[in-house]
Amino acid sequence: MAKGRVSIVVERCKACGFCVEFCPSHVLALSSAFNSKGYHPPHVVHPEKCSGCDLCGMYCPDFAICASKVVDPAKKVDAAVVQARNQTKTETAKLDAAKEGGK
Ligand code: SF4
Ligand code: SF4
Repeated sequence: MAKGRVSIVVERCKACGFCVEFCPSHVLALSSAFNSKGYHPPHVVHPEKCSGCDLCGMYCPDFAICASKVVDPAKKVDAAVVQARNQTKTETAKLDAAKEGGK
């Protein structure tokens, strides 16, 4: 499963190629298609390699591309369970402290 997902706003792109050049995982390539301004925007050629680092987005001078991390649904559930456990521990500690204070 890819760790990142890329979004491209094709019409903003001026085909400078920075996103393609600076992507450490070689996820992108300039497309042979044109946008309405006559530029070749990037497209994703290796989606499985994307880490979601968003370097492409940071280098794009035209805010035409951005990426985000993909959250593994299983890990999301794990994180929710951990959060719920921690909350329970905190609540228990508060109750214990209240009991101690009441003595
Ligand atoms: S998020 Fe990172 S790995 Fe993915 S396409 Fe952009 S620069 Fe490449
Ligand atoms: S960096 Fe931005 S403007 Fe340059 S090719 Fe990539 S998407 Fe297009």
